[in-house]
Amino acid sequence: MTIANTVKITGENYIGFQKSSNGTITFKTHNPATKVDNTTIFYEACDQEIEDALSLAQKAFPFYKETSAKQRANFLRTIAEEIENLGETLINMYCNETGLSKNRAHGEKARTLLQLRLFADVVEEYSWIEACIETSIPERKPIPKPDIRKMNIPIGPVVVFGASNFPLAYSTAGGDTASALAAGCPVIVKSHPMHSGTGTLIASAIVTAAKKTNMPNGVFSNLNSKGIAVGQKLVQHPATCGVGFTGSITGGRALLDIAAKRDIPIPVFAEMGSINPVVLLPEALKTRGEELAVSFANSITTGSGQFCTKPGLLLAIDDAALQLFLKKLKREIIAVEPSCMLHPKIKGAFEKNREKIVEQKHVSSITATNHCDDNYGQPSIASITATNFLKNQRFQEEVFGPFSLVVICKDKNQIAAVLQSLQGQLTGTIIGNNSEIKEYKNIITVLSSIVGRLIFNGVPTGVEVCNAMVHGGPYPASTDSRFTAVGANSIKRWVRPFSFQNWPDSLLPVALQNENTLKIKRLVNNQFTNSKI
Ligand code: NAP
Repeated sequence: MTIANTVKITGENYIGFQKSSNGTITFKTHNPATKVDNTTIFYEACDQEIEDALSLAQKAFPFYKETSAKQRANFLRTIAEEIENLGETLINMYCNETGLSKNRAHGEKARTLLQLRLFADVVEEYSWIEACIETSIPERKPIPKPDIRKMNIPIGPVVVFGASNFPLAYSTAGGDTASALAAGCPVIVKSHPMHSGTGTLIASAIVTAAKKTNMPNGVFSNLNSKGIAVGQKLVQHPATCGVGFTGSITGGRALLDIAAKRDIPIPVFAEMGSINPVVLLPEALKTRGEELAVSFANSITTGSGQFCTKPGLLLAIDDAALQLFLKKLKREIIAVEPSCMLHPKIKGAFEKNREKIVEQKHVSSITATNHCDDNYGQPSIASITATNFLKNQRFQEEVFGPFSLVVICKDKNQIAAVLQSLQGQLTGTIIGNNSEIKEYKNIITVLSSIVGRLIFNGVPTGVEVCNAMVHGGPYPASTDSRFTAVGANSIKRWVRPFSFQNWPDSLLPVALQNENTLKIKRLVNNQFTNSKI
């Protein structure tokens, strides 16, 4: 067992099981709370290290994909154990590289462990392979029907981009990595430069787990980078078969375009920006305005607003209840102390992007939109009429940080018009009383067509990791709205359907053999069954 608090960070890359620092470009991470650089010098991966990581992954793939469900589940559970063994070293590193609190670090770590263990269960449960069997009908006229058996198989090495705002749950051993490893795909992580130390600690846990559970060398690599070149080369590399990304629309779109221009294009599953519209219906505002102001102020400002599900757009019909709600929301927002943002660059982008909104014609700032000293983000809200919102596309741009824009509508038709004008979103929310909801059916229909998750009487922040979760949505919320980046179904991004035709039973994968020794549920001749054939 690794002894907590003794892992030394050396700033090297992990090329499979080997540490390596052959590059000449170096960098340090930054503590946004103290405004001091952390001490470790990280080495950006050089071209040879990129080549070596992918070549190892390519060699590991045929062996890794043949590991049994039990072996892969054991690997994932051992990664979770090794992360736990990092103890306070991990928590301190996380806080020193992000300015986030210890509470948040512990919460995110718990979620990361839960995801790893969930995917261990998912692998062993087998439903993700979607086993489907059509037995032959030799006597069928005019031509005999062949025996055809289908299951999902892994696509090959996957490149995962660590996210700035989730150093654990969407980074080195986050949802993308856990789901790809569960599917049987080797993973090469392009570590996020803002939290490379946290990434290296987690990488050390994954490599230890891989060795302990006899996984092939190359099943996992972790590459440091200071700029975008390493990520671009990874996506261009012919051995890469898929990409997982969380971040900006600019970054995700750039990677999607690179992938599309390859000789052999590959899928890029990018989860990008969203302003997460919330419709506040009149009766709800009248009867629960106070309570709603408290919960939305909290949702807008939690984690300094650095969540992809932060409610960035509030829509309501102009009446006395709305005016009262805005007064209460203003009071609540002003009461929230500015908190440290992830990095000076993120803080700079927050203030610049908020400025771009509030300086537009006809926007009224409801609270002050101060520039804070240090790396803190001042919570704020502003408003605009729907008529003016509809005239300017800029209002659709995500302001990543504690800011929300209220759109004041004349009536429900204007709410529908604003929703209709929006690009794809991760979430949409309806706040309403049962007595009024039927009147707004059209709005619910319009909202459903642009989002991946529809929330009723709640806030969009807080994404449950479970089978039924969809964290994705029409472009640009994600690059492929048919998939989710969170929850058990995210494994489907890393598999492809594969059919065996007239194949001898003994040579089929166990999951498709007649005996069904795994006792899994299969679709056999159009009937779901756990029975043997
Ligand atoms: P980002 O700029 O999109 O970067 C994410 C990762 O992608 C980084 O590792 C970055 O590499 C890489 N990357 C970016 N542009 C690239 C390109 N053209 N080619 C290849 N790789 C590229 O996101 P971020 O650094 O996490 O934060 C910046 C902004 O993104 C935030 O201010 C926010 O607006 C947005 N963001 C949104 C979400 C969301 O969930 N919606 C989450 C996080 C961030 P380097 O760092 O090495 O440049």
